[in-house]
Amino acid sequence: MKQRKIPLRKCVACQEMMPKKELIRVVKTPSDDIIIDLTGKKAGRGAYLCGKLSCFKLAKKSRALDRALKHAVSPEIYDALEQDFIKVEDEFIAGKEAAVDDES
Ligand SMILES: [Zn+2]
Repeated sequence: MKQRKIPLRKCVACQEMMPKKELIRVVKTPSDDIIIDLTGKKAGRGAYLCGKLSCFKLAKKSRALDRALKHAVSPEIYDALEQDFIKVEDEFIAGKEAAVDDES
């Protein structure tokens, strides 16, 4: 049986360990912008969230991103990220479905 190591990351909201590609990365760039990074390759400190709006809302409520990014995240930034999160969610789910073929 072939075993494959899947890199796991923890969702900062629900604390669940998930394969990296199941998570949406939020990154604090070197210029202190806090943005969603769908490529997972942007430089900066990253935090991972399940690709679910419910987890984003939980992170917002508990200020989990502040802790994970070691940076104060203003409510305005949480609001802006939430809008982006809703936008990327569909793209993210579509990307995941398209990636299923690579697995077999
Ligand atoms: Zn989660």
